[in-house]
Amino acid sequence: MRAFVNEEACAVTAPAAPLLALGRLFVVATPIGNLEDLSARALKVLNEVAVIAAEDTRHSARLMQHFGISTPLVACHEHNERDQGGRFLARLQAGDDLALISDAGTPLISDPGYHLVRQARAAGITVVPVPGACALIAALSAAGLPSDRFIFEGFLPAKTAARRARLEQVKEESRTLIFYEAPHRILESLEDMREVFGGERPAVLARELTKAFETLKGSPLAELCAWVAGDSNQQRGECVVLVAGWQAPEGEAAVSVEALRVLNLLLEEMPLKRAAALAAEITGVRKNLLYQVALQQQKSV
Ligand code: SAM
Repeated sequence: MRAFVNEEACAVTAPAAPLLALGRLFVVATPIGNLEDLSARALKVLNEVAVIAAEDTRHSARLMQHFGISTPLVACHEHNERDQGGRFLARLQAGDDLALISDAGTPLISDPGYHLVRQARAAGITVVPVPGACALIAALSAAGLPSDRFIFEGFLPAKTAARRARLEQVKEESRTLIFYEAPHRILESLEDMREVFGGERPAVLARELTKAFETLKGSPLAELCAWVAGDSNQQRGECVVLVAGWQAPEGEAAVSVEALRVLNLLLEEMPLKRAAALAAEITGVRKNLLYQVALQQQKSV
């Protein structure tokens, strides 16, 4: 349908400014090692956008060269992301499509991009994910630890006290735990995990994923520490640490919160055996099970 029926009248008024479509911001995952992991869609988007906002333009120039992409690169890293945001927004608002990439993997995942994405969405810009490589997901997919529920903790603090405090916070987390770590701190971090979570806790070290020396080593934390300490090659390259979630001591999970409450109240007043017997009478839970739970609790104090 035409906007104006009276063409004569239109001719004497100023021409209506064309309605500019807003550009879109594509958040594009790039490989974490193996360049063949760049998706066909990522390649198409990187070729077609007006500009690529890159964490490190020199680093990404090599990727662009490899794929013959000539789209201009503009720096968008943690130090300029907030200030540059306005410049990128202006281009998006002028109708240019932009791609955001980081040095490797998925932008925003322990990488810059959060501020730009937030600003773009707040300004009504369509933000389009172009998924691909992500070290934590690649590691989880091959680690053999429960993958139905997990938490990603990113990088642990560099200083020992802060790192241990962070580990203490997730000590009784039942979901699989995933951490990123730098190679020069991998041994210290694994040792802290062994101290805080216990040497028996199953863990997996996923190193150099998708690269020539890809290694996935799964064993209890005590063994994993000894293995990494004894082989300096395991202290090189990029790594992800996955740790099995906390499991309640055997029996405890089968005892209701109410039965545990009764047991613990009685334990304050009488010896363990008597408390277990009385708690069993009150709650209907087996005496032996309550006895074992009380014993476990005493051991872990
Ligand atoms: N955005 C990236 C992603 O999607 O995984 C993560 C960037 S973060 C700055 C870098 C960290 O990711 C590394 O220190 C390491 O913990 C992990 N990482 C990246 N590439 C890896 C690889 N090929 N193998 C194992 N871990 C990797």
